[in-house]
Order: sequence, then structure tokens, then C-alpha cells
Amino acid sequence: MHKRKKIKKSVWIILVIVLCGLLAMGGILFINLRKLEVKFDQKDVNLNEEIYNTDFIKELKNGTVVTEKEKIPTDKLGKQEFKIEIKDKKGKIKEYSLEINIVDTEKPQITFTKELETKVGETIDLLSGVSVKDNSNEKIDVKYEGDFDINKVGKYELRYVAIDSSGNEAKENFTLNVVENTNNSTTNEKTNTNTNEKTNSNANTNTNTNSNTNNEVHFTTSKGFKGVTKNGITYIDGYLIVNKTYTLPSTYAPGLTQESLNAFYKMQAASKVEGLNVWLQSGYRSYDLQDKLYKNYVATTGQAAADTYSARPGHSEHQSGLAYDVNIINDTFADTPEAVWLANNCYKYGFILRYPKGKSNETGYKYEPWHFRYIGNVELATKLYNNGDWITLEDYFGITSEYSD
Ligand SMILES: [Zn+2]
Repeated sequence: MHKRKKIKKSVWIILVIVLCGLLAMGGILFINLRKLEVKFDQKDVNLNEEIYNTDFIKELKNGTVVTEKEKIPTDKLGKQEFKIEIKDKKGKIKEYSLEINIVDTEKPQITFTKELETKVGETIDLLSGVSVKDNSNEKIDVKYEGDFDINKVGKYELRYVAIDSSGNEAKENFTLNVVENTNNSTTNEKTNTNTNEKTNSNANTNTNTNSNTNNEVHFTTSKGFKGVTKNGITYIDGYLIVNKTYTLPSTYAPGLTQESLNAFYKMQAASKVEGLNVWLQSGYRSYDLQDKLYKNYVATTGQAAADTYSARPGHSEHQSGLAYDVNIINDTFADTPEAVWLANNCYKYGFILRYPKGKSNETGYKYEPWHFRYIGNVELATKLYNNGDWITLEDYFGITSEYSD
């Protein structure tokens, strides 16, 4: 009986200990069960991806999100910071700072023609009709890679390349088919021999013998220079002039002259030594192509606006085969090291900045930092360069650049 009582007592003690242990464990468990636990997702976000602040909460225990669900702006590349507030079970609010990285992994999209055709000697603008679209809002330039000889019949495999600022590169192959120039081959030969014989290609009288009469109109400019209009082509002091006053006949189709091309390559090589990258964006344009371009501009922006930046057919210097548009055909080009170098060095290679800043009342065109005209004579080009304060051909020769209607 006494012994039994003793046993009973120890059982009680054990029971109490066990109970106490259980209680403590329960307490700990209870506290733990109520403890706020939150984990965030730290992945990169794609440009323009639709994503919300709360999407970054990967795991949440014992808490509620206080911050309202809100779209995160993802239209700009780089780091984006935001805060999320979470309330725990005790009602305490904790603030978390998140930093996400907005990246661009999408290639630009090039719209282009897979097969282009041109005739021998008739330089083609490989970049007209090509457009690039990118998920970023930035303007992306497209250029082409590969070699071809416009003076040789053949099928040339080339490709368009466009890279966005994140380095996503799109490449598209296309074929340039240079075919025999049946109806014009004699004219081309004549042009070439003419340019080879003469040191000044501007004095080159490209004889469109098959076109009409040989009437010549002689005149003297307001600054005393002798001018002549021969078969519809005007030369002043021996230099071919084409602007809003002076036209070229629609049959005049020399392609880029060999002499100007050689000078361009020299200039390009010199720029490369300086670590610069100058490329030909648009060179020779035929009367027909200019006609199409101009009509297009008129249709989209109206004639008055179009006349400030695009030439009417027959009035484009690009038809002369002596005009070179380089790199980027928009105002942003002016700030590039290439533009600065060209404006200060092109005269050494016989080129002039044709439409300088602040001279639109003389040239008839707004400032075009990308457009260079080959005049050949370095002495005259140096004069026009005028230590960086460019003199226009119109001012120098004393001529106008105005449409007659
Ligand atoms: Zn141009």
C-alpha cells in the first residue's frame, strides 16, 4: 500500500514534467507558426514586360501584403527600385526594398527585300525600303555587310545587320543581283573613260548624245563666274551644279563616279586610322528613284515640308553621282565623332559639306551633317571649308537655289 502510493507520486511528477514540456513546445510552436516568413523572387525582367510589384513575392507566411498591387514601369533598361510593406500576425508592418533589373533580350526585327536587282554601274541604295523595329523605343540603324562590285555582273550574298543598345543583333541575308546594262552600256563606258582622262570629274561633259539638240546656254553669275548649260546639265566654272534652281535631265544616270568613289575610299581609310567608322549610306540615286522618294514624302508630310529636306526629281545632287550620304541620315549624326571629323577633314579629299548649318537660305536645304559633295579640286574645297566656317557653293559662285514655281 505504501509502495503503491510512492509509485503514484512519481508518476504524477513525470506527468507534470511531460505536460510542462508539451506546453513549452506548444508555445514555441505557436510562436513559430505565427512568425512572418517572406521570400522574394530576384529574377531579371524583360523590357516592356507586364509585371506587378506583388509578383515578386515568392513565398509569404503569417503576413499580409499592405502595399497595393501596382504595375512596375518596365519601359526603361536598368535597375528599378520599389518597396513592399507586409504586416505580420501581430499587426507590425515591415518594409522591404526590392531592386530588379530590366533587361532587353529581344532582337530587332528587320523588314527587307530578299532579292534586289540593279544594272551594272547603276548604284543602288541598298538601305532604301529596309526598316527596323525594336521593342525598345530607341531608333536603331540598319547597315549592310558584305562585298559586291557594282561594275561586275554577278549574284552577291549580303546581309543586313541591326543591333540594339543591349547588343541584341539581328542579321538577315539578302541577294544583290547585278545584271547586264543593255541599253546604257555605251554611255557608261563613255562616262568612265571621261573621268579617267580628266582630273576634274566636274568638267566631265557626260554627253547624252542620243538626247536632243546640242544647245548650249552661256551665262555669267552674279559673282562673275562663267556658266554653261549643256544638254540640260549646268556647269559653273567647270563644276557641275544641281540644286533647286539647276536641274539634271532625267536621262542623266552616271552612277557614282569612279573618281569620287576612289576619293571616298581614301577618306574612309583615313577616318579608320583615327578609330572612326564611316560608311556610305546612300550614294547615287536615279531620277526615277528620287521621283518615288519625293512623292512619298509629299504624301506623308506635305509639299512645303518635303521641299526642305527632299529634292524634287531632277534637282537631287544624288543624281549627279557626286553626292555621298554617310552613316546616319538624321540630326543625331551631327554629334558623333565621325561627323565632327568629316566636317573638318573632308576637304582634304575633295569633298565639301554641302548643306552647312545656318545656310539654308543659300542652299535651300536645312543642315545635313551627313551629306558630302565631291568637287574634286582640293584647293577649292579648302577655300569652301574656310577653316570650319563652311562657304556654300551658292554663295561662292553667286547663284540661287530656288524652285521656279
Ligand atoms: Zn544626301
